[in-house]
Amino acid sequence: MKHQVNDLAMFGGSSVFAQPLFVGRPSVGDRSRFFERLSQVLDRQWLTNNGPLVREFEGRIAEVAGVEHCVAVCNATAALQLLHRALGVRGEIIMPSMTYVATAHSARMAGLTPVFCDVDPLTGCLDPAAVESALSERTSAVLGVHLWGQPCAVEDLTKVADRHRLTLTFDAAHALGCTEQGRPIGGFGEAEVFSFHATKVVNSFEGGAVVTGNAALADELRALRAFGAADGAIRSVGTNAKLSEAGAAMGLTSLEAFPATVRHNRANLKAYRTELDALPGVRVLPFDESASANCQYAVALIDAEVTGVHRDLLVRALAAENVIAQKYFSPACHQLEPYAGAVRLPNTERLAEQVIALPTGPATSVEQVRLVGELLRYLVSHGPELSARVGR
Ligand SMILES: *Cc1c(COP(=O)(O)O)cnc(C)c1O
Repeated sequence: MKHQVNDLAMFGGSSVFAQPLFVGRPSVGDRSRFFERLSQVLDRQWLTNNGPLVREFEGRIAEVAGVEHCVAVCNATAALQLLHRALGVRGEIIMPSMTYVATAHSARMAGLTPVFCDVDPLTGCLDPAAVESALSERTSAVLGVHLWGQPCAVEDLTKVADRHRLTLTFDAAHALGCTEQGRPIGGFGEAEVFSFHATKVVNSFEGGAVVTGNAALADELRALRAFGAADGAIRSVGTNAKLSEAGAAMGLTSLEAFPATVRHNRANLKAYRTELDALPGVRVLPFDESASANCQYAVALIDAEVTGVHRDLLVRALAAENVIAQKYFSPACHQLEPYAGAVRLPNTERLAEQVIALPTGPATSVEQVRLVGELLRYLVSHGPELSARVGR
């Protein structure tokens, strides 16, 4: 592969990959099935407004999540906003900062104050003890995030929420099809939210859904996503957050590919772990092989004190080789301009310095993963030399 540091593409050598490898290439499933569905949509001339494909998609997602109700919407950010509106949450909502900024924005857009809380140093998910210390008399809700598809500490968070009479919801954008102690993600808290954005493990181009066992809540969400309309009358101030039939056609087709996608992702993640396990200072996040983890993200933590090379430099060196890794999620939300303040979250900040999401998904083969692993081993074993040459 590389014989000397000068062979690296960032120093003018040729790239290991001729075509870029990405995190989150879409999983579109069987194209002919998609076109068939789209053709039916056009024949019916029913393009949106709770059409048959949206309802079919909602039924399938409810099944996967093991819940009674699913309300599909135009994206997960809108889903979170509408959910907290529908639940009447006010004041402060405690959430992790180690998440995509949409989690925080959705709360702000719903008139809430996000209060960022530190996370478990190993998983990056909300630490229930830290949640308790972040409580104030203005707290009305806790929003957990199943980061990278790992279920957060649902049992302990439920206890904290019950003890303090708080509304508990989950951003499950990463966790479709995942389980916690045999129970599917989707049935925890008051409601959970999935994302079907193009980059997620199942996509509807853009899309999201709230799943819940609460019929009244689902009913209110259906009204809110369609201008507050219910039974031919306007009963509340809603918005337009409907999923289109074309989106649902993609969602259903992508969902058919989901089991194969998950098998593929799991094989990729295993290969990353095999390639990188023995590498000091590099920790590939494990997954519970007995659970149904979707493994849509292959996440590694780079401890620069051990490797002698910072995550940022590795990301640059990889990009030159056509390996387009992502810093999911760095900077963390509380480090971003709209949320910057005095709060210090040591575990979150350490993770934000270390995290790297490596290419995976149906577009990345196990053989390519092995090559990325070999490349990373080379980069890390020459870490101090690389850092001396280019800094960070
Ligand atoms: C993708 C994502 C969202 C936003 O989903 P959209 O459907 O793009 O609005 C929210 N939270 C997390 C953790 C995400 O990764």
